[in-house]
Order: sequence, then C-alpha cells, then structure tokens
Amino acid sequence: DKRQPERWTRSTCPYCGVGCGVEAGTSGGRLVAIRGDKKHPANFGKLCPKPAGLPEAVHHPDRLTHPLRRHGDDFARVSWDEAFEEIAVHLGGVLEEGGPEAAAFYISGQLLTEDYYAVNKLARGFVGTNNVDSNSRLCMSSAVAGYAGAFGADGPPAAYSDISHSECIVLWGSNTADCHPVTFDRVKRRKKDPKVSVVVVDPRRTPTAAVADLFLPVRPGTDLALANAMLRVILDEGLLDRRFVERHTSGFEAAAEVAAEWTPRRAARVCGIEAEDVVEAARRFGEAKAALILWTMGVNQSTVGTLKNRAIINLCLATGNVGKVGGGPFSLTGQPNAMGGRETGGLAHLLPGYRKIEDPNHRLEVEEAWGVEPGTIPAKPGLPATELFRAVDNGGVEFLWVAATNPAVSMPDLARTRRGLRNAFVVVQDAYPTETTRLADLVLPVAGWGEKSGTMTNSERRVSLVEKVVEAPGEALADWEIFAGVARKMGFGGDFAWKDPSEVYEEYRELTRGRPMDVTGLSHERLRRGPVQWPVPERIEHAERPFGGIVRMWDRTEDEHPGTPRLYVDSKFDTPDRRARFEPTPHEGLHEPPGGEYPLVLSTGRVKNQWHTMTRTGRSEKLMKGLDGPFVEVHPEAAGEAGVENGRLVRVVSARGEFLARALVTESVEPGTIFAPFHWGDLWTGGGSVNEATHDAADPVSHQPELKGAAVRVEAI
Ligand code: SF4
Repeated sequence: DKRQPERWTRSTCPYCGVGCGVEAGTSGGRLVAIRGDKKHPANFGKLCPKPAGLPEAVHHPDRLTHPLRRHGDDFARVSWDEAFEEIAVHLGGVLEEGGPEAAAFYISGQLLTEDYYAVNKLARGFVGTNNVDSNSRLCMSSAVAGYAGAFGADGPPAAYSDISHSECIVLWGSNTADCHPVTFDRVKRRKKDPKVSVVVVDPRRTPTAAVADLFLPVRPGTDLALANAMLRVILDEGLLDRRFVERHTSGFEAAAEVAAEWTPRRAARVCGIEAEDVVEAARRFGEAKAALILWTMGVNQSTVGTLKNRAIINLCLATGNVGKVGGGPFSLTGQPNAMGGRETGGLAHLLPGYRKIEDPNHRLEVEEAWGVEPGTIPAKPGLPATELFRAVDNGGVEFLWVAATNPAVSMPDLARTRRGLRNAFVVVQDAYPTETTRLADLVLPVAGWGEKSGTMTNSERRVSLVEKVVEAPGEALADWEIFAGVARKMGFGGDFAWKDPSEVYEEYRELTRGRPMDVTGLSHERLRRGPVQWPVPERIEHAERPFGGIVRMWDRTEDEHPGTPRLYVDSKFDTPDRRARFEPTPHEGLHEPPGGEYPLVLSTGRVKNQWHTMTRTGRSEKLMKGLDGPFVEVHPEAAGEAGVENGRLVRVVSARGEFLARALVTESVEPGTIFAPFHWGDLWTGGGSVNEATHDAADPVSHQPELKGAAVRVEAI
C-alpha cells in the first residue's frame, strides 16, 4: 500500500521481547506504515526489519475471516454462535466423561495480557483444569525457575538502560544480533567505550560473536562446566564481593564447593576451548565495576536449563551484580509478551499475580476474586507443554484448545505432536492458516496485531500498550472475546461480561495488588501516556522499594508511582529470609549425546527477518527477500565426512524423524555441531520441519525441552 499515513498511533511491536515502541501509520482504514517511537525507552525510535512487514501481513489475503468447522478433509463456514455451541458441547462432554484433566489449553507469548487473563480465568476458575500452558515453556521457563529459585520471585532484575552503565557485558547462549537486534545495538554502542568488554559464549560463530572481545565457542551442553570454572577463578583471584555475599545471600559455601572441582583446565577440556579464555572471561566479569549477563535460549532450552540459570545468577551474586546500576542477570525474553503470560498465570503451575497453584492461600485468593467456590481451582499443577502433548497423544487429554501458536511446527518431536493433534478434538484460533489449523476440528479467526488493544510486558518488565488502529477482517474477534463468548455459552455468565479490554485489564490488575509484579498503578489510560516498568503500585506511598536508577518523569503525574527500573536495589529479596540463594550447579551434559549413527548435535534457532513459524513474517515479501528456503549450517569437516556439498539439499536425520534443508558449509559452526533455523513448516517447504528431529526431554524443574541438543546425522541426497 503506497498511501501516505493520515494518522500515526503509538503502539508496541508484536515480535520479540525487546518490546520496541512503534507508531502505526494508517490511511483509509488500512495500516500502511510502521516507524519507531522515538519516545519509547526500549528503543528510542530504532527498529529491526520485522515490524516493517506488518502492513503486508495484516492485510494479507490469507487472513482467516470466519469460523470454520471440519467436514472430512474440508472445512465449512459456521457462525460464531455455532462455533461456541460446538466448543461448549465438546468441552462439556469431555468434562463429563474424562473430568477437567482431559481438557487442555495451549496458548502463546503472542497473546496480549488481557487474552491471557481471560483464558486462565476460563480454564482454571470455571472449566476447573490447570492444563493451561504456553509456548513460553519452550522459551523462558528455565529463567522463570532460575529467578524464583534464587530471588524468591520471578522477574528480571535489570533494565535495558543498565547496558549503558555496564563495564562487562556477557552474552551467553544468545544471538542477540539476530534475535534482539535493537538491544544488540545498545550493546554495540556501549562497546565503543574502551573500558567496556563484551564476552560471547555460544557454540556458533554468530553475528553476535563477531563483535566480541572474547568469544568462547563452547561445545553444546557444557555451559555449567564453564560457569563453575568462572566462579572458581573469581574465588581464587579475590574477585568475590564478600560483603555482598555475607550480608545478602545464603548457600554460598555449597555452590563454591562444586565450583572448586572445576579448574579452568578441566572446564576448557570439557567445553572445547582454551583454559586461558576461561580465566580471561572470569577476570573481565569479576573485575568490572558493573557487569551484566544477558542470555536466551542457548541457556534455557536444556535439560539442565534451571541449573544453568542458577549458575549465571551465582556469578552475578558472587560479584555483587544484582540490583546494581549497570549490573545483573538479565534474561532476554524471546516472545513479546512471555512476561505478561507469567504475570497472568499462563504456565501450568501458576495463577495470576505470580501466585502458585500449589499454595492453598494463593488458590483461595484467586477463587475469591473470581467468585467461585473454594476448591474450584485444582491443587495439582497442570501439564507443562511437552507432557501435555504426550497426554494428547496417549489419550489422556481429549479436548485441546490452541491459541496464537503453531505447535505442528514448533513443538519438539513433531511426529508425536501431529499424532496427538489428530487424536483429540482440537480448536485452533489464529489469524492465518497454519500447519496446526490444518489438523484442527474447529478454526476460529482472530483479530491480529493492530486490530485489538491490550498490554504486553517486555524483558525489562516494561508494560506497553498495543493499540487497535484498524478493524479486523470479516468476523474475526479478539482472543479474549472468544474465551468470554465460550464462557457465556457454557453458562459462566456475568463473570465474563467485559465490554472492552481495559475492563479485562482492570479486573486482572486487582489480582496483582501487593504482589511482586504489582501493576495496580496502571490502566490502559495511563499507558497511553507511555510505558512503565513494574512493580507500579496504585499510589506512590505504597512503594516498598527505593527506586533504582533514573526515573523518567515525562510520563507521569505527581502522585503516580513512577514504576521501578531495577529490582532488589535494597538487596532485600523475596525469599523468607530476604536473602538471595546460591545453588550448587554440578555439570551435566546433553540428554542425547552425539555418537554412533548420530554423530552431530543439532542446534536450532532463528534468522533476523523471520519470526517463529513464519505465520505472519512469511506473508511479507519484504521480509522474505533474500531467503532461499530452509538451510542447515555444517562444518566443512562434517560435510566432507558425509559427502555433503555446499548449496545442495541434504537430509538431517535423528532417531525420531528427518527434514530436508540446503547445506551451508561454513566454519560458523564447530565440527561436531550443525545449526538450522526452525522457521519453515510444511506449508512452506513440504520437506519437513526442523522439529521432526528434535526430542522432548525436558528440565525436571522448569520442564523446558532441550531444543538445542538432538543427536543427528547429515546425509547427502
Ligand atoms: Fe520488534 Fe524485537 Fe525488532 Fe524491536 S527488536 S522491532 S521488538 S522484533
């Protein structure tokens, strides 16, 4: 659309957890342009290429416009009333025969907070099942478990502004350059200061690694060996912040004992790097006045993901880098509103307001707020994503409702996932046809980005508003409206009688009162004046913590709480003794070590201009330019052994399945590792998805699967 915008509206980018502010340009009822919001503190006007593709994607002819009911291999249009009735009948039948545990909801970090809240209320408070899990399980759940274990509450303590005050920035298991480009831009700007160093830990020589002062190309699954050795060097070289450790932490001795087993030489052997580099990394981190560790999926997607998070937090605690300007552990959230999902109870073990299912008081508080009988919310946590899909496959779950995600491409062990999706009665709500809608019994069209309002929380706890700027196509509804519609059809009545999303938000925020992520000071109206970092209690005198860093004054009135740039600046944590907890983190390798028939480790990831399974970004010509289909990076040595030539199609095979991709022979990966982006599904290629090969073994605490560690072989075709 070449029209010039008649109007610009402030909103928030719907892709990654950087949560950049955008301005949506509209003309004649259409979205025609996107530009950066210069006032938004997450990006100050900068954007990566992805949101520029939104106008094409929003108005794409593929959009789903009417509810569809499966008839054999085809779908036929039905009314919303028929669709709601169909769900009510099937869900009602499953509840009667199998009980609430036979029903499940698989939702997404793409949902807005209001959507998340509505589905949680419907599922846990009225259907009576805790089987509500999100694709954030595949993304951030190890960070959730890491923070909760160390600090007593979830929530990244640092802020993006800390990057500008840090002297050492460690990017661990994070290709920030491609996956969080605007944050990476900050890192690069900071790096111009000669006293600042950047350390990158990654098995792959990514564009992020290219700017590193020190690059540690560790073998996949060896992060714990490195982290322990770094802690040991910090101790041996007197870099420990003894005062902070003694006054504000517990459990140090036990963690130090495990670390003591890891000499730099031993770690170097396990990690496949030089011992001097281990020492150098520890020194750079430990000697800096303020140091940050930023991390993402390379740490989280692991069967020891929680321990890896704890090991990173151990390093920060040992050096006093928590609650400090320019320092801290800082997980970079993958999805735009994975944080909002955690806050509203979007993981199987959570309730709104960072409450826990297992806590009877927490259940009671939520039951009272929802006006349901005590005992309505089951005491047992629901099934985390990988177990949920196993249960769908083995018949334990007979009704599955999927919202805003595409598990038929993104879940590990896809053959099992697909089998399950064929077994159960499956409702899928999405804005576009996907590999998952093809397997659904009922497809519900939703209003996408720009067609509904609501809130999102980015990686630094900043809540921003997403604005409705155009009408949704056809009969598409907002996700929260669909959940409320079904609730009303099932007779849950007035409890779901919200008229607009700001009413949903107002109900939700009451459940955050006094909680670690209190947002009682926020409303859609206030957020129209600018985004705010939680906690942000209703009145300023209710603030318990002193504020860390500089508070921006332009977006608040006198008596409003200004938000909280940094957590734990008073070194008081949310644990019973107010101390942060160290954790011993013994090294454990990959669940499926390479060897025999499958000598290589498959690591998966993303490319800069695409998002997840390409549902939206794949529908932008602008973003597809230059992409020549699925590819797999193979080291020349491994390529030689397998007889694989650069540019030729190859088959990647694991014990579970296989996919086809073009070989990119490169020294970006080490000889034992291959890398493939997981974007392409069958709708795009017909050659299978990367997740045909991955496995669903998961961390015992966070239940996050090890998507970056499948044993495979590469075959020339
Ligand atoms: Fe959107 Fe993330 Fe890119 Fe910012 S960095 S524009 S939030 S995708």
